[in-house]
Amino acid sequence: MSLEQSYTAILGQLGEDVTREGLVDTPKRAAKAMQFLCKGYQQTLEEVTNGALFSSDNSEMVLVKNIELYSLCEHHILPFIGKAHVAYMPNGKVLGLSKVARIVDMFARRLQIQENLTREIAEAIESITDAAGVAVVIEAQHMCMMMRGVEKQNSTMVTSVMLGQFRSNPATRSEFLSLIR
Ligand SMILES: [Zn+2]
Repeated sequence: MSLEQSYTAILGQLGEDVTREGLVDTPKRAAKAMQFLCKGYQQTLEEVTNGALFSSDNSEMVLVKNIELYSLCEHHILPFIGKAHVAYMPNGKVLGLSKVARIVDMFARRLQIQENLTREIAEAIESITDAAGVAVVIEAQHMCMMMRGVEKQNSTMVTSVMLGQFRSNPATRSEFLSLIR
């Protein structure tokens, strides 16, 4: 069964008349939208960074903050949206600026839990840059909490992963945390 046919089945199961005018093209559109929201499965780290790694003597922290983040929770297939803050301590190589955001997107465009998403981004940055340290903080609101279940509209989930110098050096970690505050 195609994704489109599956959506027709779901709408029918929900009690909809799948032949009514407003829904005629909905399965097709929903399938296309879901394929876009999950396109990270078709991407690889090599492809999204596309060789944009440059030699640099800079060993000071590089921080990209407030990266918009849209993902789907793997438990309910409902969106969670928020911001990612990504920092690393270069070790001879720096990554093209837009590539950090692309790496965030590649992992966000899959079914996720926020904790794993945070770790996957950190480990990807570490492996591609060989950085002396990587820090990732994600703040997000989960529709599965806001629209259903406990219906808590104002709670934000914060997750962080600290690798290398961000883990071992409290001064580096607190510099990062004050910069994103
Ligand atoms: Zn959920």
